[in-house]
Amino acid sequence: MQRLQAFKFELMPTGEQQRQMRRFAGSCRFVFNKALALQKERYEQGEKKLGYAGLCKELTAWRNGVETPWLSDAPTHPLQQTLKDLERAYKNFFAKRADFPRFKKKGQRDSFRYPDPKQIKLDQVNSRLFLPKLGWLRYRNSREALGELRNVTVSEHAGRWFVSIQTLREVEQPLPQSATAVGIDMGIVRFATLSDGTFFEPLNSFKRHEAALRRAQQAMSRKTKFSSNWKKAKARVEQIHSRIGNARRDYLHKTTTAISQNHAMVCIEDLQVRNMSKSAAGSTEKPGKNVRAKSGLNKSILDQGWFEFRRQLDYKLAWNGGYLVAVPPQNTSRICPVCGHVSAENRPTQARFACVACGFEENADLVGAINVLRAGHARLACEVSGAVMPPAAGTHRSDSGVAQCRA
Ligand SMILES: [Zn+2]
Repeated sequence: MQRLQAFKFELMPTGEQQRQMRRFAGSCRFVFNKALALQKERYEQGEKKLGYAGLCKELTAWRNGVETPWLSDAPTHPLQQTLKDLERAYKNFFAKRADFPRFKKKGQRDSFRYPDPKQIKLDQVNSRLFLPKLGWLRYRNSREALGELRNVTVSEHAGRWFVSIQTLREVEQPLPQSATAVGIDMGIVRFATLSDGTFFEPLNSFKRHEAALRRAQQAMSRKTKFSSNWKKAKARVEQIHSRIGNARRDYLHKTTTAISQNHAMVCIEDLQVRNMSKSAAGSTEKPGKNVRAKSGLNKSILDQGWFEFRRQLDYKLAWNGGYLVAVPPQNTSRICPVCGHVSAENRPTQARFACVACGFEENADLVGAINVLRAGHARLACEVSGAVMPPAAGTHRSDSGVAQCRA
């Protein structure tokens, strides 16, 4: 099977390269925003949205025009890639996977991508990378990037520059190390509870750092904007943000690696995290109930990176020869795994499950995980009886369109 993998390194650019990269990122942001403004304008005038090719034509005009001649200083391909990103943002919006594309602001995930491997040279022996219009860049060579180079993304975070090198390589079709199946219940009190009884503590990295972050933000607000003290305080805020992000990523990777190595089939609730976080604020006509409580919950959900958790599980399972099964979240918290009785009363408290029919009692998250596993098994059985082959090892099942099967 073919494996796409990204290898990330910190760059050690010269001062001139840093200035260039900042300029390129700015040009990409400018092009994204200009293209988005153009699409909005066309929409308001009742015109059709431009496709990628149409946008590229516009880009050529902007680069050669008199208003923004500096655009031609930036490499062409990364500028075109931002138009691709805009296309994707629209696509995700129409597919209801994301909000309407927003204008990009300076300092928010500044990055640009080189899509053409022919223009890139990777010299791993000498820890350097050649990129168009930047020349040779030195990087912290912490590991070998395996496989054939596909594309390179340059990004800035908290004043440091990084490069993400995506490669493709042929790897042996892995055989699962384990044959067990497990269900997962995602929660606030416990980040993840497995149907075999193990569970993972909540991450809450944000909460832990929240006080420090608040202090740093207050300190920053007391300084005169753009003064040297303000810049120092701003760097401090960014540093804490980056620490939070690192701790979260680290934890998620450890958790998903452990789960994907120990199980061949993992069932998870198909929660629409985006909808959950949206409902809190409500609309202007119909403000959400319990906005405060809900936004607390939502913040917690987002804080713990459920989406990222699921994404990592999906690809790591595939790498290990296993697969992920997403099940609809119906009744998974209310059905009794012993007698099958479904009732909201089975859940006297958030933490406790107590069946009103048979008296079975257990931790509510564990019951949820057991029910998710059952739903996953039922879903697979349903697929097989519907003359669909059971999943081969390594295939992604999470997004398979088996909507007719109500497991
Ligand atoms: Zn029962």
